[in-house]
Amino acid sequence: MTTSITPSTHLARIYELLIDTYGEPENKPDYDPLGGLVGTILSQHTSDINSERAYRQLVVTLPTWEEVRDAPTLAVAEAIRSGGLANIKAPRIKNTLLTLTEWQQSQGGTKPLSDYLHDELMQRTTEEGWHYLLSIPGVGPKTAACVLMFNMGLAVMPIDTHVHRVSKRLGLIGPKVNADQAHVVFARITPPEWVYPLHVNLIRHGRKICHAQRPECGRCPLYSECLFARGVWWSQKSRQFVVENKTKPNHSRKLVLSARIDLRWRLIVQRLMKPLLIVKREVRSQIAHGFGNALVIFDVHLLIFHTAP
Ligand code: SF4
Repeated sequence: MTTSITPSTHLARIYELLIDTYGEPENKPDYDPLGGLVGTILSQHTSDINSERAYRQLVVTLPTWEEVRDAPTLAVAEAIRSGGLANIKAPRIKNTLLTLTEWQQSQGGTKPLSDYLHDELMQRTTEEGWHYLLSIPGVGPKTAACVLMFNMGLAVMPIDTHVHRVSKRLGLIGPKVNADQAHVVFARITPPEWVYPLHVNLIRHGRKICHAQRPECGRCPLYSECLFARGVWWSQKSRQFVVENKTKPNHSRKLVLSARIDLRWRLIVQRLMKPLLIVKREVRSQIAHGFGNALVIFDVHLLIFHTAP
């Protein structure tokens, strides 16, 4: 997962535009994968504030992971109550700790669980560490990627709901790629040193501009790179890309659309026809309009050809 990768021009432009807009975040791993694993379980289906509060409460109530493992499930659930879904997350956390304990015992080890997981990951490649974490019951691709990237500083992109939605709209991943599959796609297309900044900036972009409902395309810095904004969408019925606007365009978006795509081609065609003074101006305009629309479709198909993985 950490081999050298040359990014596509499309990805490179998106990466640069994101850096220009949101800056270049720096990863500061704490090398505490077990703390990260528990923290990620606590963060499922809740806000960062609630999960951080639950984590703090858990480590105050039960200061070591061995104590959490040995405490009654109800006591763990009470300690993490503020994070939501406590009755589901408490047994999940305990199962994770019990699994690691069993694995260590089968190797004859006696280290604290934090050290054990840290050392197990350190002696593996990124890809082996990924599969190791996935083999812990209840740990999925996103949780494994979060631990490897945030806690171990490795180049594995976690695909959360924002990253998945925005990268699909931008055409970085195919329209039918689900979040779990997207982990593999990003491992293939992203240079390792870009993984953390790209992840953080796609989330920032998803939160600030590219909302799930009503994305603000009219003020989006990635507009020129976006398949969704250019009206390209996947049709389940015909099983192909179609040129069609699924969003309700606002005024500014309409302006940008016509300025960037339609008018651009129309002006080119009009200029090409200028020598044909014999043809009336309105007729030239109509020809340019029709020809321009055809070229927009051609242009969009070129974009798909170059960007769809
Ligand atoms: S142009 Fe619109 S859909 Fe595309 S990334 Fe920007 S906000 Fe999202």
